[in-house]
This record gives sequence, structure tokens and C-alpha cells, in this order.
Amino acid sequence: MARYTDPVCRLCRREGIKLFLKGERCYTDKCAIERRNYAPGQHGQGRRRKISEYAVQLREKQRLKRMYGLLEKQFRRYFDMAERSRDVTGEALVTLLERRLDNMVYRLGMANSRAEARQLIRHRHFMVNGRRVNIPSYLTKAEDQISVVEKSRSKDLFRTAMEISQKRGVPAWLEIDAENFTGKILKLPDRDELTIPVNERLVVELYSK
Ligand code: SF4
Repeated sequence: MARYTDPVCRLCRREGIKLFLKGERCYTDKCAIERRNYAPGQHGQGRRRKISEYAVQLREKQRLKRMYGLLEKQFRRYFDMAERSRDVTGEALVTLLERRLDNMVYRLGMANSRAEARQLIRHRHFMVNGRRVNIPSYLTKAEDQISVVEKSRSKDLFRTAMEISQKRGVPAWLEIDAENFTGKILKLPDRDELTIPVNERLVVELYSK
């Protein structure tokens, strides 16, 4: 599957916010946003022009898409699903993105970033409700139990990730049993429980043109 392979800090600098794509580094002063908070490229520090309504909507869409590590086609598919749902489209879109297994693994602190979570899932280190799942886009639901497979539990990688994630904290709608490398989705989050610095209504406006 196609994926973004260029330096990810450029994406944060382009969006002007921390997208937390690099794990622990994002919480240190080595973070590129802390050191060079301007857009990348030759004209990154140039005079700011007046931003059109379209540009504002586009930036919001790019932020959301990049935060979850998706490419345009995948992201658009989620939007179409959200539009077909009975819920408010913007909120349904965010919920769908949150339900992805790679996001849940990251939120539970079993990986340092969504990209790392995706790779670990692909390498078959996780189970959902006792069954091995190697699809990062797998849509989880409330009450699902996510665990690291028995054989992988001794890996330093998971211990380190869990330790680091203690700093980040696990959201109230998730429950983690670090001893047993298992997490549970208590409920799907409401929009106000998610601290995503994106206005999803602008994404809906952009795609509804
Ligand atoms: Fe973004 Fe993390 Fe890079 Fe900072 S270190 S610019 S938050 S990916």
C-alpha cells in the first residue's frame, strides 16, 4: 500500500502545529516545531499572504489526514462513510478515524506513534478479542479488547513504549492493564473528549463544494 516516506516533521511545520508523528521526540525540545516553527522550503519564512477560505479549509483537511497518517484516497473513503452515516458528518468522520486499530494501539500507549503502531500491527503483534489482526485500518468498537500476543510481550519495544506512554496518559474512554499488555475500549469517544486541534466542519465544507 502507498504511504508517505518523506521526513514527517516537515508535515508539522507545514501545518504549523504538532501532529505527534515521531513518538518520544515530539515531547522534547528536539521537536522541529519548537526549533523552526515556520513552513518548510525556500519561502517558508517569507511574508504571509492573505489566506483564502479555501486555503483554510484545505489546511484543516490536511491536518486531520496527516495526523492519522492517511493518504488522500483513504481519507476520502472515510469521509464518504461518514457522510452516509446518520450522525453529524464531521463528528462521524473523527470517530471513524479514532476507531482505526493503529490509532487505538497508539492511544493505549502500546506504540509511540500511529506509524509505529501500524508497523507492529502489520507484523502480527496484536490481537483483538483474542484473534490476531494484522490490518491497521481494522475498525474497532466499544468493548473490544486489544492485546499484545503472548510471544511478543517480552520485547523491550513494548515495555519502553508503555513507559513512555505513561507520560502521555491514556484517555478516560480506554482502560489499560499494563501488566498483561491488554487494553479495553470502554466506549467510543465523544468529540469533546478528543483534543484534536482541527475543526472538522471545515473539512466537511471543503468536500461539499
Ligand atoms: Fe511533529 Fe513530532 Fe516532528 Fe515535532 S518531533 S515536528 S511533533 S513529528
